[in-house]
Amino acid sequence: MSDDEPRDVTPLARSRHRVAVVGACPAGLFAVQALLRRDPGLAIDIYDRLPTPYGLLRYGVAPDHTAIKRVATTLARVFEGRAVRFVGMVELGRHITRHQLREHYDAVVYAMGASRDSHLGVPGEDLDGCLSAREFVAWYEGHPDASPVVLTGVSTAVVVGIGNVAIDVARILAKPVDDLSDTDMPDAVLGELGREPVPEVWIVGRRGPRQTAFTQVELRELVSLDGVAVSVDGVQPGELDDDESLDRRTRAVLRALRDGPARSVPDPRVRLRFLFWHRVWRLDGPGEVESVRLEATRSDAEGRLEGIEEWRDIPAQLLLRAIGYRGQQLPGLPFDPVAGIIPNVEGRVTDQRGEVQPGEYVVGWIKRGAVGVIGTNKSDAAETVDHLWEDLAADGGTGRCSSDDPVVGLVESGTPVADFAAWLRIDAAERARGESRGRIRTKIATWQELAGLVAGDDDEAAKEMRRA
Ligand code: NAP
Repeated sequence: MSDDEPRDVTPLARSRHRVAVVGACPAGLFAVQALLRRDPGLAIDIYDRLPTPYGLLRYGVAPDHTAIKRVATTLARVFEGRAVRFVGMVELGRHITRHQLREHYDAVVYAMGASRDSHLGVPGEDLDGCLSAREFVAWYEGHPDASPVVLTGVSTAVVVGIGNVAIDVARILAKPVDDLSDTDMPDAVLGELGREPVPEVWIVGRRGPRQTAFTQVELRELVSLDGVAVSVDGVQPGELDDDESLDRRTRAVLRALRDGPARSVPDPRVRLRFLFWHRVWRLDGPGEVESVRLEATRSDAEGRLEGIEEWRDIPAQLLLRAIGYRGQQLPGLPFDPVAGIIPNVEGRVTDQRGEVQPGEYVVGWIKRGAVGVIGTNKSDAAETVDHLWEDLAADGGTGRCSSDDPVVGLVESGTPVADFAAWLRIDAAERARGESRGRIRTKIATWQELAGLVAGDDDEAAKEMRRA
């Protein structure tokens, strides 16, 4: 099919109400699931900037956490809804505006996640070799926007932050590549990780082991990896000791931090060093990171963090900031720059003054900030959908939104929309590529190949068959 030939679009189903969900991520798809429970025939268009659904499940949940990745199988069922359409490769603000969405749908649910990185705000942060965890994760997850990461010459990596993303990136660096080879990581990523292992990985926290954001299962997995010798440094006397007054998670984290170094690991492949009560002061190097200067910290009487002007330099070639994500302002939508979210009351979008914007809703990290695991999005989406349904019921039905089909308009204007069939072609090509390597899937990580499969390009399909 030529690029300028408009493709057929499944017509927008006749339904009493029409809902748009912007973001085919877990939060958005949990919202669709909750909506379909209210009305299985509801007309729902699920927009995404990528030609692939599942958002963070595909590009955020670590490739070796296959059990969580399998949540996608459950979420895929929403696309079986008789009036549900996937509208991929359509970006809010670029291909469709807030105004158009409001015009064509009775309700719009924004599920855009938190796509901005937090910064350390220290000198040297712009040196090569200083990356956000988001960039590093995007690379190993095969995101088509990711830049390649080169690990050649990296003998020490410093991961800043003591949350679960820090654990994910440290684990991917520390795990033997053979233990990753059955994941869906692109071949180039496995090749890079396997070429030259990084023998020393630091995890640096500006506060102590009792203030970590780790969950115990993730930490326990990391400190139990084969061939990884663990050390814990920078702690204050008694800080690692068990204490019945602490919550269960913190006590389990302390236990893992005691057990890790107690393991005997003769001839370790990787040294994993936790360093608490230190913050990054600056990064040094002529153009690339060569060393990281840290300042020791402590908590003052009010619990505020302060530096104590004691310095420590770690020679390192890679620094990964795993210090949290923030939401991005969406074109034309209200935004709370301090919280990094769309202002809302239990999922109903408000303006900056707190006035509810009728017909607009939020779910996921853009609603509550970048906290919580995949499952958290289920109850979060249920809360929003409860309000959305109350509002639709109170309105007594539609009639106000335009009866035009916005997706037909997009296709006619030449936007190469990726529908669900296009995603199934990508899915099949990835499975075929994986199968030939003894894996379930190998991700396709370039826009060129994805776009070829979206277009149903026979050449691209033939190339894929040859590759497989
Ligand atoms: P997070 O849990 O909020 O942790 C961020 C860490 O960065 C905190 O330790 C924080 O320390 C630190 N930090 C913030 N600013 C800093 C700075 N300027 N300098 C040094 N340290 C700084 O965020 P995340 O790790 O990005 O995770 C986001 C969410 O995804 C979390 O809810 C997490 O549990 C979830 N997640 C779950 C999994 C899983 O279940 N396997 C995997 C990945 C992510 P302070 O406390 O001192 O601010």
